Amino acid sequence: MIKAILARWKQGHRTMEFPSAGLKLPPRGLGLPRLKPAGLEKAAAACPYGAIAAGEKPGLDMGRCVFCGSCARAAPDEVEFTGEYKLCVSARKDLVITGKDFKRAETLGAELRKIFGRSFKLRQVSAGGCAACEADCNVLQTIGWDLGRFGVQFVASPRHADGLLVTGPVTRNMELALRKTYAAMASPKVVIACGACAIAGGPYAGHEECVGIPPEIPVDLYIPGCPPHPLTILDGILRLIGRID
Ligand code: SF4
Repeated sequence: MIKAILARWKQGHRTMEFPSAGLKLPPRGLGLPRLKPAGLEKAAAACPYGAIAAGEKPGLDMGRCVFCGSCARAAPDEVEFTGEYKLCVSARKDLVITGKDFKRAETLGAELRKIFGRSFKLRQVSAGGCAACEADCNVLQTIGWDLGRFGVQFVASPRHADGLLVTGPVTRNMELALRKTYAAMASPKVVIACGACAIAGGPYAGHEECVGIPPEIPVDLYIPGCPPHPLTILDGILRLIGRID
């Protein structure tokens, strides 16, 4: 017993401080893209997912981007990825980076903040996901991140949930389950689209078996990435419920 106590004492405190610790993406992590003034023709040609538009309305759509880095390697004078992990937005259109201001996710209104600000339960639905986004949500519940300290928890039943977190491109097989989960949640409720697949289909965009999140399920927070880094997910959720600004 004494050995176990000593071991725990030596291990110390394992939970990362957030956001005060100034955490950053790892060196190989790709964060907020920065567009350079050279134009985007080469970068657009290099993108296998059609996430970059050149020409009259140039921009990089983080909703479609899988952060593979091909564009930055092919056209370093046009695109650069920074280490910035704060990528979440409230409106789909704000995921398109144009080189001007980037509009981060907004906090819920005062009424909802009062309800969810200190206790926010999420039901996760993997709607055809590959398990990468799911794994990065899962890691937030480990001792290193300790999502529960912010009052945020994943729960097993939609009846207990305040928010629905969707991963995956929403396959036909999962569409009904997603609709039923949303319907089973009490109002008010919020919806989070986590990862490129949930936002825009990811690598499966346009596939006949992928239908996307139905318009009757309105999304309040978009978390881009493939998968999003846990820092990005945590930042987005806490920003949404007003725990950070
Ligand atoms: S990083 Fe994104 S925008 Fe660049 S090539 Fe890959 S998918 Fe396309």
